[in-house]
Amino acid sequence: TELPADPIDINTPRQVEQSAYSFVLPKKPSNPSLIHASNEVAHAIGITDEDLLSADFLHIFSGSTVYPETKPFALCYAGHQFGNWAGQLGDGRAINLTEVVHENKAYTLQLKGAGPTPYSRTADGFAVLRSSIREHLCAEAMHYLGVPTTRSLSLMISGDQVLRDVLYNGNPAYEKGAIVCRVAPSFIRFGSFELFSSRKDYVNLKLLSDFTIKHHFPHIQVEGVGKYLAFFQEVTRTTLKMIVDWQRVGFVHGVMNTDNMSIHGITIDYGPYGWLEDYNSSWTPNTTDSQHKRYRFGNQPEIALWNLYQLANALYPLIKDAKPLETILDAFSTEYEKEYLNMMQNKLGFQIKKEQDVVLIQSLIQLLEGVETDMTIFFRNLGNVTKADDATPAFHTIKDAFYNEKDLDETILKDWHDWFEKYIIRINEETLSDAERKEQMNEVNPKYVLRNFMAQLCIDEVDKGDYALLNELFEMLKNPYDEQPNFQKWFAKRPDWAREKVGCSM
Ligand code: AMP
Ligand code: MG
Ligand code: MG
Repeated sequence: TELPADPIDINTPRQVEQSAYSFVLPKKPSNPSLIHASNEVAHAIGITDEDLLSADFLHIFSGSTVYPETKPFALCYAGHQFGNWAGQLGDGRAINLTEVVHENKAYTLQLKGAGPTPYSRTADGFAVLRSSIREHLCAEAMHYLGVPTTRSLSLMISGDQVLRDVLYNGNPAYEKGAIVCRVAPSFIRFGSFELFSSRKDYVNLKLLSDFTIKHHFPHIQVEGVGKYLAFFQEVTRTTLKMIVDWQRVGFVHGVMNTDNMSIHGITIDYGPYGWLEDYNSSWTPNTTDSQHKRYRFGNQPEIALWNLYQLANALYPLIKDAKPLETILDAFSTEYEKEYLNMMQNKLGFQIKKEQDVVLIQSLIQLLEGVETDMTIFFRNLGNVTKADDATPAFHTIKDAFYNEKDLDETILKDWHDWFEKYIIRINEETLSDAERKEQMNEVNPKYVLRNFMAQLCIDEVDKGDYALLNELFEMLKNPYDEQPNFQKWFAKRPDWAREKVGCSM
């Protein structure tokens, strides 16, 4: 179907009562072109490599045309932003195209940046190229790292200019507009439930909950109150697992507002995210959060729990008994500690789990925080330590991870030496050989992650019209745990110019 050039009427921003969504139409981009598509996501939803090159693909996934017999819609949801109630938010720049069922799996396809919706509030509904590249690359990188996430099918340029910032000299800074197609089982968020609950619209709260459980949690077979509790329990469990994965790979989400929390426990909304380079628990990539650092790396588990409290509050009217909800929430912290310990033991190569490992892990974190130490390089190289090593050669295997050798004064060297002595004793208690242990460690300690500076370099190239680096990074990030000698140059510390975080706004 050809769309009207400017379908503003049904897309006009407004408060939308008693609805979980509104029908919308994407804005026709003036000159769309495909920059990159993920073949694997395409195949998963039944799109062939040939289809990806077709005019139909270009038109449908840039929002130029609407696929026959589908009715695009934007979801209405609310949320807590930075700890404060924000009221109705909704898909301000996301448009759900349709749901696809392929090989018995259901996927929702969603355009991000395809124009205003009733939920755009004062914003424009568009997305700029730089943030779209960051989303496309990172979503796929996370998937290949084994971290639950929304996927990204395609990255398109719209051919339109988007205004994000005004320069200091007062001139408008136009940027290239872009559209990403995100793919997920659904885009239902904690905030979807908060919306109805906050409005005391319990009829729709129940409808949404019943719909969600029936379609997305069909294994929950209990009826009545138990059904909602089982749902909440499962969201708690998958959210916890997702956070453990974030901490494992050094991913910092940056905007863990409740509207950015998926009920599927998948990472959603790649805004000002970032990757830990030097291990620093108080780092956040979000420049608007630089004072309180609410969403800093080390706080992500706490925030997940805080967000789960909001979801519990939202579901409470269906359950009308706080006790069982509290029981689930109370178990979160101990369960997290357990899972976190297990994850760290795996990163350190401990197949046999010992209680005292907590001490060794805590002292390691202190050391990592003590001087600028690259997280990815440290853990990857730690796999090269052998049982026969003394502390000094062991320390040398990870020395590349330090940003400034001159930081390593005598006290620090002594602390590291002591730590490695204990570590070597500990790995000698393992039954696996050095080679086997290294192999296991390499499965949880990625060699290649999407460092912030890589995304920035890529953005600069794509902006100039050169897609080679985007293709290179995409290919590399498909196998983050493999050695990949041809990509060795990306197994490197952040260069000095990228010390202050780069390009990470929305
Ligand atoms: P976020 O911080 O990205 O989760 O966005 C918070 C809210 O603002 C969501 O409701 C978004 O849909 C909306 N939003 C963000 N950017 C835009 C934009 N450029 N146009 C319209 N709505 C937006
Ligand atoms: Mg969001
Ligand atoms: Mg966002």
